[in-house]
Amino acid sequence: MKILKTVKEVKDEVKAWRKEGLSVGLVPTMGWLHEGHLSLIKNARENNDRVVVSDFVNPLQFGPNEDYDNYPRDLDRDAGLCEKAGVDVIFAPGIEEMYPEGFCSYVDMNGLTGGLCGKTRPIHFRGVQTVVNKLFNIVTPDNAYFGEKDAQQLAVIKRMVLDLNMNVKINGCPIIREEDGLAKSSRNSYLSPEERKAAPIINKAMTKGREMIKNGERDAKKVIDAISEIILSVGITKIDYVSIVDSLTLEPVEKIEKDILCACAVYMGNSARLIDNFSLEI
Ligand code: AMP
Repeated sequence: MKILKTVKEVKDEVKAWRKEGLSVGLVPTMGWLHEGHLSLIKNARENNDRVVVSDFVNPLQFGPNEDYDNYPRDLDRDAGLCEKAGVDVIFAPGIEEMYPEGFCSYVDMNGLTGGLCGKTRPIHFRGVQTVVNKLFNIVTPDNAYFGEKDAQQLAVIKRMVLDLNMNVKINGCPIIREEDGLAKSSRNSYLSPEERKAAPIINKAMTKGREMIKNGERDAKKVIDAISEIILSVGITKIDYVSIVDSLTLEPVEKIEKDILCACAVYMGNSARLIDNFSLEI
């Protein structure tokens, strides 16, 4: 496995693979890898000749008061996990490599990003789209892998690839959870022991919401209220949002009549903002 730091090195490596007719899978990450990332890597490993993992905490997708500085970073640890998982190349650029002086081009969209996480994180998806575009142009993957944990991100990337006629297949991968149901996240490392103990309430609440819909409840507000009540029952939580939206448009629905995404973002104490979601075909 190679750890490459420059765009040129990655492009040269991919060029050599292409000469041999090999296919390439890309797994974009911000590092501090866990089993969620590893499930994406496994999927990429099984379906491509070569696998590239990008490991880059992208400053463009963090707002001014967010956790960019504190975000956990450990390339040696990530490299060990990638090596074991059969990764061929880790692309771990510095900020100047990705955003050299004078950088001023961005990729943005007019729909899908206004609600859910986009409401409290207004510049987030522009940052995500821009970095993912750059990674696609650098690695030119046949396949790219994204987690359903970040459901809005997955929808945005799929739409961007469709709208801009990009030559890459986007593969969504299921949410990987801790034994107690908490969705795995690099940000779980922020949680105090008390917050960690309380955090599975998010999944418990979402599971209750899913059951209500499966049992025939069609009033979105009733489901949202039930989920919110359970999340708030532990006392140290603050809700950013609990929403039920149309799976395709990500617009809120009042009546649950078509395929939906139910998503939430919850602050645990002062430490972390955690997200979770489920999708249902109606
Ligand atoms: P991140 O490093 O948090 O930017 O995540 C990189 C990729 O891993 C994204 O596509 C995430 O959706 C995905 N991912 C993160 N956590 C999980 C999880 N628990 N299950 C599945 N995919 C995940």
